[in-house]
Amino acid sequence: MEHLYDVAIVGGGIAGYTAALTAGNLLMDYLWLGDTAFGEKLCRAERVTNFPSCMGSGKDFAAALTRQMEGEHVALTRMRADGVYKTGDRFTVTCGREQFLARTVILAIGVEARGSVRGERELLGRGVSYCAVCDGALYRGKTIAAVLSSPKFAEEVRYLAQFAAKVYCVCRDRAFAPAGENIQCVEGVPLAVEGEGRVERLVLRENTLAVSGVFFLRDSAPPEAIAFGVKTKKDGHIAVDRSLSTNLEGLFAAGDVTGRPYQYAKAAGEGCVAAHSAKNFLKNSKN
Ligand SMILES: Cc1cc2nc3c(=O)[nH]c(=O)nc-3n(C[C@H](O)[C@H](O)[C@H](O)COP(=O)(O)OP(=O)(O)OC[C@H]3O[C@@H](n4cnc5c(N)ncnc54)[C@H](O)[C@@H]3O)c2cc1C
Repeated sequence: MEHLYDVAIVGGGIAGYTAALTAGNLLMDYLWLGDTAFGEKLCRAERVTNFPSCMGSGKDFAAALTRQMEGEHVALTRMRADGVYKTGDRFTVTCGREQFLARTVILAIGVEARGSVRGERELLGRGVSYCAVCDGALYRGKTIAAVLSSPKFAEEVRYLAQFAAKVYCVCRDRAFAPAGENIQCVEGVPLAVEGEGRVERLVLRENTLAVSGVFFLRDSAPPEAIAFGVKTKKDGHIAVDRSLSTNLEGLFAAGDVTGRPYQYAKAAGEGCVAAHSAKNFLKNSKN
């Protein structure tokens, strides 16, 4: 029988970390998923002056958190979740071919600083995707584009190239793109995804590519592309109440993904509250 966690925490930033730290203190059986501990944003901050006891750069902050994480034995499972599905009283979290079961989930996936491009949300599921492993096989023999925000997604482009006839690898730096017979690097800035009911082209500032699919490979995808059925507000953030509950029972959200201000203190506070709320939810549920 598959292991059933009390809580699966999705997102390696400070909201996810604080949720994992708190879940551990509350003696919950947790799974913390993320590609890196604390996220890249933290390391990019030049100087952090607004978090209690932090008086240095983001890298110093990350180093202190790493020491604490090791000291408190907080375990990060280095994986990206590509789907969170609710079935009955439990959640299935998929990470490529792996899947995990949990009674509650905390979504702490942050927000994409660069924002979405025109048409992206409207054509989600109709040619726009955020997950190569989930949707790559749908584009067998087709011409598609993969928009990369970082070189760490090169492997996903190679995966897509196994199916597609041609992959335009759109990135701001040529070094991000992997080599491959059917991979063509295009340095450009995406402005819009267009098509009549389905993706037909990707408009770049520099030119337009005729494609039948566009994969946006970024650190954070829109929440509804990962957690199916979750309600978002007009501004794209997840709608939560004060306990950080979402519209789906047992699904909580924390950090930037719930809205502004985008600050470490707010993200950490929400991670803590979300873990307590998940614990209370389990205590009050009959299962
Ligand atoms: C350059 C810069 C400087 C900043 N300086 C400050 C500052 O001085 N003070 C301050 O208070 N705030 C600052 N901020 C804001 C701060 O970084 C954010 O508010 C904070 O990082 C939010 O934490 P989070 O955990 O909600 O999200 P994030 O830090 O964005 O973490 C989310 C993590 O989840 C991962 N993730 C996303 N999707 C998935 C998935 N499907 N599966 C697994 N993992 C996933 C992402 O890769 C990321 O690592 C700064 C931000 C930037 C960009």
